[in-house]
Amino acid sequence: MAAAIVTCAHENFEASQNVIRMTANSDNPDVFAFMLEVRVNCVDCGQPFGFKGLNAGVSYFSPRCSLDALEARIPLMTPTELALLDQPQQVPGEQEYESLKKNPPPLAP
Ligand SMILES: [Zn+2]
Repeated sequence: MAAAIVTCAHENFEASQNVIRMTANSDNPDVFAFMLEVRVNCVDCGQPFGFKGLNAGVSYFSPRCSLDALEARIPLMTPTELALLDQPQQVPGEQEYESLKKNPPPLAP
């Protein structure tokens, strides 16, 4: 079913989120992963927004979305896992950018 075409400018938003404690099954209450579920709606018209670039499904290692793309499912690192990181994660290209800031190339005449 196609969504209704609206003339709303979509200027105000609300997001709902839920953190899920993942357990193997109802007989095993040990939590083995945490998952953030997020939904976004326009407050003015009530229409939901979808998430781009995510494959549908559930993964404990990378973000996914629901089949209708309306819910992002993002695996979380626990504080213990964060402490195991030796240093903050770097964005690809960030080192080159920092190097260029320190030693900018000469300007063309
Ligand atoms: Zn709207």
